[in-house]
Amino acid sequence: AAKANGKDCRLAYHPALDEEYDERRRLENDLRATIAAGGIAVVFQPIVEARAGRVVGVEALARWNHPRHGPVSPELFVRVAERSGLINDLGRSVLVTACREAIGWNVDLAVNLSPAQFWDRMLVERIEAALAETGFPADRLELEITESYLLRRPDAAEEILVRLRALGIRIALDDFGTGFASIGYLQRLSFDRIKIDRSFVTHVVEQARAADMARAIVVLAEALDLPVTAEGIETEGQAAIMRLTGCSRLQGWLFGRPMPPAEMGRWLAQRSLALT
Ligand code: C2E
Ligand code: MG
Ligand code: MG
Ligand code: MG
Repeated sequence: AAKANGKDCRLAYHPALDEEYDERRRLENDLRATIAAGGIAVVFQPIVEARAGRVVGVEALARWNHPRHGPVSPELFVRVAERSGLINDLGRSVLVTACREAIGWNVDLAVNLSPAQFWDRMLVERIEAALAETGFPADRLELEITESYLLRRPDAAEEILVRLRALGIRIALDDFGTGFASIGYLQRLSFDRIKIDRSFVTHVVEQARAADMARAIVVLAEALDLPVTAEGIETEGQAAIMRLTGCSRLQGWLFGRPMPPAEMGRWLAQRSLALT
């Protein structure tokens, strides 16, 4: 038996851990039920062309409004879904909902893919099925993946990227710059665009070094023929600098917050009226 004050004793009984475990199981169960009931919402954030400000795309972002906890951060519930085997159901729900909503909008649709989704053996078939089911044109769909999880197996990753692109869809490297070891892989992996992480954009106005970093990333991307989107643009000053830097697309609260589909539809209709 464990001694009263020994380490074994504390390991064997740990109410805080038990509580966390219960809480996690509850969250998993709630998420499972919400996905099954079609209760994961999708909001859309506009992406504009840097020079003329024309809307060229929207990014779909998943939302879960928990009855007791309120809005749950997508980073958290995506992680919960990955750990509990729900990620493919969640991913399918988001992709199909996003395609259905965005099909009538004449702009590109960007959808995020998590690591577990990317490495799933049925990924390409799942994407193909969602496109077939919704009738969404492949050439308007862009999948966003983050660099960190491609690096462990770059050759296998490239094989998947090639198969995805053969469907006619495009691939964006999301949150670029947050995992530096990856720069060498940029030339080996087939992307269609990179998105500079918000952390580089935030300080471009007041910190010369931040602006230098952003410029260096764009120069690197240009050398590889990769257009760049800057995310997290909140001010006119940031927009002006990222435009000068050579980003082809801009995204952020300055142009539009993530919006529910009906609002996004109205927003797009208004913008296209204003431009004609
Ligand atoms: P992300 O793909 O890099 O998405 C951009 C995040 O930045 C979004 O946060 C968006 O709401 C936020 N954002 C956009 N413009 C601004 C701005 O001007 N200022 C600030 N401060 N933030 C801005 P969100 O919606 O909380 O999503 C966080 C992350 O969760 C996403 O990062 C993405 O990695 C993940 N995520 C969201 N939806 C999905 C999904 O359907 N599937 C998967 N696998 N991941 C998702
Ligand atoms: Mg994204
Ligand atoms: Mg991002
Ligand atoms: Mg992110």
